[in-house]
Amino acid sequence: MVRPKTEEEIELLRYNGKLVSMALAEVGKHIAPGVTTKELDRVAETFIRDNGAIPNFLGYGGFPASICSSVNDVVVHGIPSNYVLKEGDIVSVDLGTIYKGYNGDSAYTFPVGEVDEQTRKLLDVTKESLYKGIEAAIAGNRTGDIGHAVQSYAESFGFGVVRELEGHGIGKNMHERPGVPNYGRRGHGVKLEDGMTICIEPMITAGNRAVYVAKNGWDIYTADHKNAAHYELTVVVRKGQAELLSSFEFIENNSSIKF
Ligand code: MG
Ligand code: MG
Repeated sequence: MVRPKTEEEIELLRYNGKLVSMALAEVGKHIAPGVTTKELDRVAETFIRDNGAIPNFLGYGGFPASICSSVNDVVVHGIPSNYVLKEGDIVSVDLGTIYKGYNGDSAYTFPVGEVDEQTRKLLDVTKESLYKGIEAAIAGNRTGDIGHAVQSYAESFGFGVVRELEGHGIGKNMHERPGVPNYGRRGHGVKLEDGMTICIEPMITAGNRAVYVAKNGWDIYTADHKNAAHYELTVVVRKGQAELLSSFEFIENNSSIKF
């Protein structure tokens, strides 16, 4: 059984969702050729702490930083480093917060300057696959409906869907049940109920979906070293339409989404 959240809990998750959304936008402002991923980590940690929250990635399972910064063929869990971003790179930034005992968690893949057409397509399709997943995150559906929506959209463009990692419930812990795979069959998996709070986070590859873990135990690479993208939002399952707890409005200046 997965317990739906109370409205009081959802309010705290909403605050965390807003914080991670704003923190991602703050990091995004600093992304440019010549900047290191370690510098982006510092921007995020400062922003999160200045807003009275704690970066929940720092120390999680021994992770050494406040953000994951995954460049090009790194899918997720990239450790910030002295790598200097260059024109044409992409960098997936994943970050989270704890505020008043509840968690926030979202991710966005940023282009560094101009990227080639195929890479732009990868970013657009990955983000759209997330929205397809969110459309399926309604009460009465199952986690397999979300996975099916993400997978069928991404694969229709010939892209790969990473299976080794998945989305998750969120609350007092960053990772709670249910697991939310990015692939699946309609009508299968855990039943979604009004008030369940989940993170949906497609990890999509330009080539083959196979991945491996680097020697540092964290960075997850595509086996064929083609690019990968990762977008993540936190939502509340509702009847008819999920409610966004985090959004990309601060990154994209889309004022249509209100907190
Ligand atoms: Mg995340
Ligand atoms: Mg997550």
